[in-house]
Formats: sequence, structure tokens, C-alpha cells
Amino acid sequence: FLKGKTALVTGSTSGIGLACARALAAEGASIVLNGFGDREAIDRIMAELGAASGAEVRHNGADLTKPEEIGGLIADADALGGADILINNAGMQHVAPIDQFPVDKWDLIIALNLSAAFHAIRLALPGMKAKGWGRIISTASAHSLVASPNKAPYVASKHAIAGLTKAVALETAPSGVTVNCISPGYVWTPLVENQIPDTMAARGLTREQVMNDVLLAAQPTKKFVTVDQVAAFALFLCRDEASAITGANLSMDGGWTAA
Ligand code: NAD
Repeated sequence: FLKGKTALVTGSTSGIGLACARALAAEGASIVLNGFGDREAIDRIMAELGAASGAEVRHNGADLTKPEEIGGLIADADALGGADILINNAGMQHVAPIDQFPVDKWDLIIALNLSAAFHAIRLALPGMKAKGWGRIISTASAHSLVASPNKAPYVASKHAIAGLTKAVALETAPSGVTVNCISPGYVWTPLVENQIPDTMAARGLTREQVMNDVLLAAQPTKKFVTVDQVAAFALFLCRDEASAITGANLSMDGGWTAA
């Protein structure tokens, strides 16, 4: 149902973003991929998505912590007809107590998790408005609603993404563009796997204790969310049946924020 549409998915060489790109390509969308990774792996992903969609796939390796690189990303989407769907997904985490938090890491996390979405939205929105149709979906987090210790910039950036979503949704409400964020609990991806060593060190725990007693402690289902579940939710938001959903922060967290 997305034939003729173009989707720009940030942070789509891995994890949730890659699953979203796969889901959108399977429905025929042209895809602009973004994110880091080795050339061969990215080429394989591009070939796979191109075969699935029958449409063009590009990769732009813009570092989204650098606002000046975001214009080029939008230009790649413009070359494919303009971003009809923007998924602000690239994000990073660093775990440390606030009084020991590296200042440069604070700046990077805010730049990537929050400011990059602002820049992508402000640059992609005029094209969506001109077409009278658009979908802006950001990957927020359960940490857009609740906090955990030692993750101050992540929690701050994700709460801010939920606020940005609401503000832009109100601005775009009459225009056929919907703006939402999805707030997963713990999803099994490299981002989660990579924070296990820091949490082990910060709290003096084993790997198993971090997985069961820290990560899944707050998730009543005791299961990680899967990347395919998040992608299926994002795909639904692109359907016309979802046109009344805007300004929403949509949880899929195994019951975490119900507690
Ligand atoms: P991931 O580490 O698997 O993938 C991150 C992607 O972002 C990769 O493609 C990476 O190359 C890209 N990226 C990293 N830094 C970048 C930069 N400076 N510029 C451009 N691209 C960059 O992560 P993931 O777990 O799939 O997370 C994706 C999003 O989902 C993030 O915003 C994260 O906060 C959010 N999220 C993840 C979980 C989880 O449990 N994994 C839960 C809730 C929310």
C-alpha cells in the first residue's frame, strides 16, 4: 500500500530502524536508509530492500549529531520524490550517574535523540504539507514517560521527543500529516545489548542479573519487545485507517508504564 511513497528512516542500518525499513519496503516504498555500518553489510541491506520493494533504495551515512549533515539526507529523499514518511529513530544511550556524566556524551545524546528529529522534521514537513499527506513517527521509549537512574540525558531526550511530537501534531493537524511517537519498553537490539556491560559495572551485577533484574524488572510480561513488533506498529500508523491518530505517545512496553 506504499507504492509510490518514499520513507526516510534514520538509524536504519540496525535494530528497530532496520526492521521499520524492511516493513516499509515490503509494502513497496522507496527507502532512504541512514546509519553507520560497514559498506558490505549496508550494500546487502540495500539489495535486500530493493528486491522486496521493487523501488529505489539509497543510503546516506549522515552523522545526525551534526545538524549540517541532515540537509543532505533530506536531499536524498527529495531525489526519490520527497519524504512522505519520516521515521526519527536514530538514538544512543550512555549510562552514568548525573554528577559523573561526561559532558560531551550529554551533548551527543541530546543532539542525536532530540535535535536531529527537530531538524529532520523542519526540513521534511514542507514537502509533506504540499502533498497533503505525511507520516512522522519517532521512536521514543518508555523513558519518555518514566525514568530510570543513571540515564539522565536519555530520559530527558525521550520526554522531549514526546513533547515535540505533541507540538508538531497540533501545528500539522489540518494538513493530512500525522505525528506520533512509539514508546517501546526494552527491545532486544544492539543498543540494549551494548549497555549491559556499563550497567554491570555501575551496579556490580552479572550479565544475567542485568537482563532479568534490571532490564526486564520493569517489564511485567518478562519478555523483550521485538523489532518486528515495533515495525508493524509503525507500518500501521502509515495506513489511512490511522489518520485519526496524531499527537499520540503510543506505548508498547509489556505493561511497564501501567505500573
Ligand atoms: P541500534 O543501536 O540497534 O541502532 C541504532 C541505529 O542508529 C544504527 O543504525 C546506528 O548506525 C544509527 N546511529 C547511531 N548513531 C548515529 C548518528 N550519530 N547518526 C546517524 N545514525 C546513527 O538501536 P535500537 O535499539 O534499534 O534503537 C533505535 C531507537 O529506538 C533509538 O532511538 C532508541 O532510543 C529507541 N529505543 C530502543 C529501545 C531498545 O530497547 N532497544 C527501547 C526504546 C527505545
